Amino acid sequence: MLRKRCSNDNHGRSVVTVRFCPTCGAVVNDRILARGCALEKHTRMRRVRKAYCVDCGQGLVQQRSGR
Ligand SMILES: [Zn+2]
Ligand SMILES: [Zn+2]
Repeated sequence: MLRKRCSNDNHGRSVVTVRFCPTCGAVVNDRILARGCALEKHTRMRRVRKAYCVDCGQGLVQQRSGR
Protein backbone atom coordinates (compact mmCIF):
# COMPACT_ATOMS: atom_id res chain seq x y z
CA MET A 1 0.00 0.00 0.00
CA LEU A 2 1.45 3.30 -1.07
CA ARG A 3 1.19 5.98 1.55
CA LYS A 4 1.59 9.66 1.13
CA ARG A 5 4.47 11.06 3.11
CA CYS A 6 3.06 12.19 6.38
CA SER A 7 3.67 15.76 7.47
CA ASN A 8 2.91 15.18 11.11
CA ASP A 9 5.99 16.08 13.16
CA ASN A 10 5.55 13.04 15.40
CA HIS A 11 7.60 11.12 12.85
CA GLY A 12 10.64 13.35 13.18
CA ARG A 13 10.73 13.51 16.93
CA SER A 14 13.02 11.42 19.08
CA VAL A 15 10.58 11.42 21.96
CA VAL A 16 7.03 10.60 20.99
CA THR A 17 4.38 10.31 23.65
CA VAL A 18 1.78 8.52 21.57
CA ARG A 19 1.81 5.15 19.83
CA PHE A 20 0.02 6.13 16.66
CA CYS A 21 0.34 9.15 14.43
CA PRO A 22 -2.99 11.05 14.44
CA THR A 23 -2.51 12.03 10.82
CA CYS A 24 -1.62 8.80 9.02
CA GLY A 25 -2.25 6.12 11.65
CA ALA A 26 1.25 4.68 11.46
CA VAL A 27 2.97 3.47 14.62
CA VAL A 28 5.39 6.18 15.72
CA ASN A 29 6.36 4.69 19.08
CA ASP A 30 6.01 0.94 19.42
CA ARG A 31 7.14 1.01 23.04
CA ILE A 32 3.80 2.45 23.99
CA LEU A 33 1.16 -0.25 24.22
CA ALA A 34 -2.00 0.04 22.19
CA ARG A 35 -5.04 0.76 24.27
CA GLY A 36 -8.68 0.10 23.79
CA CYS A 37 -10.70 3.26 23.77
CA ALA A 38 -14.16 4.31 24.71
CA LEU A 39 -16.32 5.49 21.85
CA GLU A 40 -16.76 8.92 23.36
CA LYS A 41 -13.01 9.40 23.32
CA HIS A 42 -12.96 8.79 19.58
CA THR A 43 -15.85 11.18 19.17
CA ARG A 44 -13.87 13.85 20.98
CA MET A 45 -10.80 13.22 18.82
CA ARG A 46 -12.88 13.37 15.68
CA ARG A 47 -14.12 16.75 16.80
CA VAL A 48 -10.57 18.08 16.97
CA ARG A 49 -10.00 16.69 13.47
CA LYS A 50 -7.65 13.87 14.16
CA ALA A 51 -7.76 11.27 11.42
CA TYR A 52 -6.60 8.40 13.64
CA CYS A 53 -6.73 7.62 17.31
CA VAL A 54 -3.29 8.06 18.89
CA ASP A 55 -3.95 5.25 21.39
CA CYS A 56 -5.41 2.42 19.33
CA GLY A 57 -4.72 3.55 15.75
CA GLN A 58 -8.30 3.25 14.61
CA GLY A 59 -9.36 5.47 11.74
CA LEU A 60 -11.75 8.12 12.95
CA VAL A 61 -12.72 9.72 9.69
CA GLN A 62 -14.36 7.84 6.86
CA GLN A 63 -11.88 7.84 4.01
CA ARG A 64 -13.46 9.04 0.84
CA SER A 65 -12.57 6.90 -2.12
CA GLY A 66 -11.74 8.36 -5.48
CA ARG A 67 -9.05 10.73 -4.34
ZN1 LIG B 1 1.98 10.18 10.27
ZN1 LIG C 1 -8.75 4.75 20.17
